[in-house]
Amino acid sequence: MTQISERLAELQDDSAVLIAMYDQEDRLRYANPAFRSTYAIEPDETPLWSELMRRNTRMGRGTIIRAADFETWLVSAQSRRGKLPFRAFETDVVDGRWFWMTETVQKDGWMLCIASDITHLKQSERDVRQDRDFALRALQTDELTGISNRRFMMAALESLIAHQCSADAGVGCICIIDLDFFKRINDIYGHQFGDDVLIDFSRRVQPVIRRRDSFGRIGGEEFMLILPHTTLAQAELIIERIIAIVRGACPIPSVPCFSYTCSAGLAELRQGETAREVYARADEALYNAKQSGRDRLKIVA
Ligand code: GH3
Ligand code: MG
Ligand code: MG
Repeated sequence: MTQISERLAELQDDSAVLIAMYDQEDRLRYANPAFRSTYAIEPDETPLWSELMRRNTRMGRGTIIRAADFETWLVSAQSRRGKLPFRAFETDVVDGRWFWMTETVQKDGWMLCIASDITHLKQSERDVRQDRDFALRALQTDELTGISNRRFMMAALESLIAHQCSADAGVGCICIIDLDFFKRINDIYGHQFGDDVLIDFSRRVQPVIRRRDSFGRIGGEEFMLILPHTTLAQAELIIERIIAIVRGACPIPSVPCFSYTCSAGLAELRQGETAREVYARADEALYNAKQSGRDRLKIVA
C-alpha cells in the first residue's frame, strides 16, 4: 500500500495532467507541479481559490475570464462551484491551452480537481460546445446579479431532497431573504439605484456562505439560501451575520447616508418533506420577521 502511495505521488509529480485538492473552505491544499505551473502557484503556497483567481486575473495569468469584470465572473463561478458531487467543463488559460476540468466533491466538502489538455481537439467542435455551455449557464443565472436564478435554486432544493442522507447535521436548512421596504427605495432613488442595491446584496452574501451552499435570486427582491447538512443553530449564525453585514453597509458611495436592511425566514428540512412544504415554512418565518419589525431572522421549526 505504501509502495502504491509512493508511486502515485511520483506519478503525480511527473504527470502533465493537472491535479489539485481544495478543502471545505476552498483553500488549495495540494497541487502537483503541472497544476502549479499552469496557475502560477509557488510550491508551498495554499491560497484560497477566489484569491488565486483574483491574483491571476490581475496579473494576466491562468484562467481566461469572459465577463464584464472579475467580480461579476466570480459570483457567477462561485454559484456553480462545488455544489454537485461531480462536474466537468472546458476551460482555457492565457497561454492558449484548453483543459477538460473535472471536480469531484466529497461529502465533507473536500474537492479533487483534475484537468487534461484537450487543445488538440478540433476548434470548431469546441465553439459549439462553448456556445451550449454558455446557454446552459445563462439558463441558471440571474441576469442582473450574476448569481443563481429561481430555476437553479428550485432544482438544487429538489436535488437536496432526493439525495438526503441521515447525516449528523441533518438534511439541511433553507432560508428566504427579502429586502425591506424595497418599493420605497425605488420610489425615492429610482429603479436603477434599486438594481444597484440588489447587486450589492448579492455580493455581500457570497463571502459569508460556504462553497457547498447555494444562493440565488428567486424573485424581485427575494433571495434563497440552501444550506445542505447544516443544523438550525449553524444556519442561524450564518444568516445573522448576513443581516448584520447588510445593516452596517454603506453600499452606494455617491449617497453615503443610504443604508438598507433585510428580513429572513429559516426552516429546517425534515426527512420526507417536499420542496413545497419546506418552502412554505421558510416563507411563513419570513412573514413573521416582517410582522415583528423587519431587519431580523425568524425560524419556523
Ligand atoms: P417589505 O419590507 O414588506 O418586503 O416591503 P417591500 O417594499 O420590499 O415589498 P414590496 O413587495 O411591496 O415591493 C417590492 C418592490 O420591489 C416592488 C418592485 O417594484 C421592486 N422590484 C422588483 N424587482 C425589481 C428589480 O429587478 N429592480 C428594482 N429596482 N426593483 C424591483
Ligand atoms: Mg421586500
Ligand atoms: Mg418581496
